[in-house]
Amino acid sequence: MTPLLKAEGLVRCYEGQKTLFKKSGTVRAVDRIDLTLKPGETLGFVGESGSGKSTLGRMLLGIDPATEGHVSFDGKPMPQMYSPEWRALRAQMQLVFQDPLAALDRRLTIADQIGEPLEIHGLAKGYALKERVSALMEQVGLRPEQGARYPHELSGGQRQRVIIARALATSPRLLVCDEPVSALDVSIQAQVVNLLRDLQEDHGIAMVFISHDLKVVRNICDRVAVMYLGRIVEEASSDEIFAYPQHPYTKALVSSVPLPGQSLQGRILLKGEPPNPAHRPSGCAFHPRCSAAIPSCAIDVPALENTAPKRRAACHLLNKPLSGKVA
Ligand code: ADP
Ligand code: MG
Repeated sequence: MTPLLKAEGLVRCYEGQKTLFKKSGTVRAVDRIDLTLKPGETLGFVGESGSGKSTLGRMLLGIDPATEGHVSFDGKPMPQMYSPEWRALRAQMQLVFQDPLAALDRRLTIADQIGEPLEIHGLAKGYALKERVSALMEQVGLRPEQGARYPHELSGGQRQRVIIARALATSPRLLVCDEPVSALDVSIQAQVVNLLRDLQEDHGIAMVFISHDLKVVRNICDRVAVMYLGRIVEEASSDEIFAYPQHPYTKALVSSVPLPGQSLQGRILLKGEPPNPAHRPSGCAFHPRCSAAIPSCAIDVPALENTAPKRRAACHLLNKPLSGKVA
């Protein structure tokens, strides 16, 4: 089966900022990332702030250009941003991000904004447009009569529902959700995650779900990739990541999220500061914070290799019975 989305060797560099005294080095925000996403599959990306998740999400949609590497959608190379081909493709791939207020126009009603992509792509007008907007609002748990309201008249959770309705308007095949619930109250987060999961299941939409919060991805993702300083350090099915994390960084992340009814006993605390991407540690970038590190971890960069069928991890300490890179 042709993957819906494929990325090979993705790299994104940002030039360092000059300060009065020195110029910080180039930041490799995304560093040699490969991934494939099948139609209808949900892939989560987790990692601390600054690990390159948002940059990767934008690159997957062609919004941020790759310094190196390629993205293909449905077997074809991602067209250049703003080209007519790219604009046409945007109907099939949509972005939902953290701050719904920033993504909405304060001067337009909710209904107008949900209908906008349908008009832009010439998919509906007049009565059909109105009907479609009402149906979309119902799908995301909003009442059609709320369509006459303006963004500031809604709660944060309702605004994110508007964004989701707008993203669904063109019946996309791929949704990239970048911290879609991070700005919402904890009590609302689960509702919005459940909504996304139901929509994803009902419509068979493939999803890249980005979050710094492992708890959030657990309920929605088939597979999870853990990022550290721009690289994937572990990738496995969601069940396996939680039940048997392999990489020491994943173990620390998982141990900080107890299952319901479990205590935080056995929690692995991460040592030291979160890393500065402009000063990537030598060898394995995680080694200064890793309680299991051995001398070679400070020297050699571990490759992301198969550790079991359909699992990969980048750690010198893991056995590599199936050694060899994943295709
Ligand atoms: P995350 O979403 O995981 O927090 P980001 O992708 O936002 O990570 O950022 C990864 C790294 O790239 C960070 O060090 C960030 O400072 C840097 N970065 C992101 N966007 C830009 C930009 N437009 N210009 C310069 N540096 C950037
Ligand atoms: Mg981000």
